[in-house]
Amino acid sequence: MSFQPDYAFDGEPPLGETWEVAPGVRWLRMPLPFKLDHINLWMLEDGDGWTLVDTGINTEETRDAWDRVFETTLAGKPVTRIIVTHFHPDHVGLAGWLAARFKVPLWMPYTEWATGRMLSFETRESAGPVSHAFYKAAGFSGERLDQVERRVGRYGGNISAIPAAIRRIAHGDEFAVGAHSWRVIEGNGHSPEHACLYCADLGVLISGDQILPKISPNVSVWPQEPEADPLARFLDSLKRFKDLPADTLVLPSHNWPFRGLLERLDDLAAHHVERLDAAQAACAARDGDGGATAVDVLEHLFKREMDTHQMFFAIGESLAHLHHLMTLGRVRRVIDAAGVHRFQTAAV
Ligand SMILES: [Zn+2]
Repeated sequence: MSFQPDYAFDGEPPLGETWEVAPGVRWLRMPLPFKLDHINLWMLEDGDGWTLVDTGINTEETRDAWDRVFETTLAGKPVTRIIVTHFHPDHVGLAGWLAARFKVPLWMPYTEWATGRMLSFETRESAGPVSHAFYKAAGFSGERLDQVERRVGRYGGNISAIPAAIRRIAHGDEFAVGAHSWRVIEGNGHSPEHACLYCADLGVLISGDQILPKISPNVSVWPQEPEADPLARFLDSLKRFKDLPADTLVLPSHNWPFRGLLERLDDLAAHHVERLDAAQAACAARDGDGGATAVDVLEHLFKREMDTHQMFFAIGESLAHLHHLMTLGRVRRVIDAAGVHRFQTAAV
């Protein structure tokens, strides 16, 4: 990727502090116990109180940091509502804790809420067999397959209980927060119906994980929908941002606020064109052996060392590129005698 983000700020707010990034819009950063070690959250001035956008993962460190924000930035002012962009634990993790504390509603896309609620009730017993079969078909064996067993049903452990009822937000909805109107723009592919929030008055887009300045948002096939082509949905939904002004201030969930939205959209699309070509080349190299597994493609696409957490994103991402190549008619899939999916270039 050649994109050089034009960062709007030189630095970032320390843990537990907030910075104003636009009138009435404040930025806070929370820690994450992963290699990607932080998430950005946003506070929108809402009359006498504040609307929170995304909540952080459910750890003591994050809850303590929120407590400091309540004492300083909020200074006794109420939280008016909580908006969550999508179901991933670093975004929805403390929504239940915050909603209960301030007795306010959670606003969230219905599918994102339902997915989070569903996953939080999954157990090793309920989801294990489907996950095992999915990763075995992708080419996992031995230690990697054992890791699947250990990870299934862990979603609920990273979040406070997601509220049992929500106020739904959906693509095209407009609503007021304080003096300004915000519009929902739905993104797909990273998560089912990710809500981005755009304010024309302020020229600000809260892009969540859908558009990030430095890393390419993860687009993965997951066991719950093993035949999905999430990359088609991701690339298609990026088009919904092309009409926004070129100087829009983009507030992403990771790294720093930036400008250069339209260039970044083109850059992300170009990145996936390159990855599709690389995935196809990995398949072609294995045509003589009956085709490449998703693990073969992963090893071709990701040369760096990865921890287990990253490995699961990488295998999902490899499958996303393979499934999109199938949609495009550039590879075909055969299932070998062991039940493993093998991808061959269409010319074979
Ligand atoms: Zn996410």
